[in-house]
Amino acid sequence: MTVYEKRESKALDLLEESGVRSTPQRHAVLDYLLNTRVHPTAEEIYRELEEKFPHMSLTTVYNNLRVLREVGLVRELAFGNLSSRFDSNTTDHYHIICDECGKVVDFNYPILNEVESLARQLTRFEVSYHRMEVYGKCEGCQGYRKVQ
Ligand SMILES: [Zn+2]
Ligand SMILES: [Zn+2]
Repeated sequence: MTVYEKRESKALDLLEESGVRSTPQRHAVLDYLLNTRVHPTAEEIYRELEEKFPHMSLTTVYNNLRVLREVGLVRELAFGNLSSRFDSNTTDHYHIICDECGKVVDFNYPILNEVESLARQLTRFEVSYHRMEVYGKCEGCQGYRKVQ
């Protein structure tokens, strides 16, 4: 079994355990997310699966993403006022975002747990989570600039 196949069968097991019905569309949305590293928007997933499921609506894609998020298989990422992006990598990691093309790339860094305990100490909040993003220009966009 490849790493991808392992992730997929684990994800499908989790779906089944949560009592969520696995429809072909839901399966396809999950499959696409597990298979990509681009952190697509719902629209991008819709366009990607349109050919395979011509009768599937964008609303169906949104609904499936919501279900997958509730089960914990998918994370929804909101960057500023742009459309949400979806990530099937639910392990702790951070993102770097290209200012030019909107590309989102994962990177690992020891999770900044101190930030959460410090915030809790200073503000007496009950901390749920924290987010950190790094912004810049991806390699492709740097190249594009040089050509011009
Ligand atoms: Zn870029
Ligand atoms: Zn990610």
